Amino acid sequence: MRELIALEGPVTIERYMSLCLQHYYATRDPLGARGDFTTAPEISQIFGELLGLWAAEVWMAMGSPSQCRLIELGPGRGTLMADALRAAKVLPAFKAALSVHFIETSPTLRERQRAALAPSGVAVFWHDRVEDAPAGPAIIFANEFFDALPVRQYIATERGWCERLVGLSDAGLTFGLSAEPERTLTQAPHRLGDVLEIPTASIGIAGTLARRLSSDGGAALFIDYGYWGPAFGDTLQALHRHAYVDPLHEPGEADLTTHVDFHWLAKAGIDGGASFHGPVTQAAFLTALGIETRARSLKQRATEQQAADIDSAVRRLTEPGEKGMGELFKVLALSHPDLEAVPGLPKGRFSKAES
Ligand code: SAH
Repeated sequence: MRELIALEGPVTIERYMSLCLQHYYATRDPLGARGDFTTAPEISQIFGELLGLWAAEVWMAMGSPSQCRLIELGPGRGTLMADALRAAKVLPAFKAALSVHFIETSPTLRERQRAALAPSGVAVFWHDRVEDAPAGPAIIFANEFFDALPVRQYIATERGWCERLVGLSDAGLTFGLSAEPERTLTQAPHRLGDVLEIPTASIGIAGTLARRLSSDGGAALFIDYGYWGPAFGDTLQALHRHAYVDPLHEPGEADLTTHVDFHWLAKAGIDGGASFHGPVTQAAFLTALGIETRARSLKQRATEQQAADIDSAVRRLTEPGEKGMGELFKVLALSHPDLEAVPGLPKGRFSKAES
């Protein structure tokens, strides 16, 4: 990173994140107690199972197509998909229609995914980019994927919106600003120093998915730590072994994320010809899908310790506040415009001011 900056000058936050994340995901399995972070499917099998049932219902609403691609972006260890396919067994015609397509760049994680999916008996294919997945009706999952994509950051100065950069000082890597403001940005800041984040990569991917859904049919479900913007603020953070660290410290060794502004994903969806549903909180979504009922039925066959573990996992997935994921995480879906309703999410609409 230092050599690159010495050679080419300061890099954008987007380029910095992109280089760090490529190295980070290519060189490790970041999940679990011994990694840097834990995700919902790793907390409880119920999460993936409920998403599998969600997909089965959407498939029926699509008219039960005889071939349906189940696409997942950034599938991690493959746990969500393995749990979803197990739940999909309740509808044999649905399971028979499926092929699984993973969008995954990390060779390490591809191996984990291969092992996780082997017992499912469903054909699995891997692709580097969303564009490479074959056409046709699709149901798409992305859990904690968009937060791992690079964003651009702009800071309100007296000259206008200047792009935030990473440069070099005697002390090492340091944040800086572009000399020239970005004149195409029209948002009015509240005050000097406001940070505007634009998730260019996420907008591009959501747009590609929306165009696919509106021409070939289906729905996409996005779940992530985030909010409904537009809003100002620097949300770039780095996690190393479950603790926050300086994002410029040891580039490529920590997990870099930003909070997902779902309004950009919904807007990219509308611009691509899809409709959107939600967003709602993860707690509201999982409750609507029946997390309590599923937990109760699992507990009937569980030991006392297992039952306590199930209760604690359900609390972690649905609890509000800083400790739980229930309110911090939001759920949004895009769909073909003919899909009037998807389970657990109300039809979304932009207010006049937002559109
Ligand atoms: N969805 C999983 C893992 C989330 S971690 C879970 O819930 O457990 C983020 C995932 O996105 C990893 O699988 C990572 O390898 C993948 N990923 C990150 N950047 C990517 C990119 N640009 N293209 C494709 N996959 C990417």
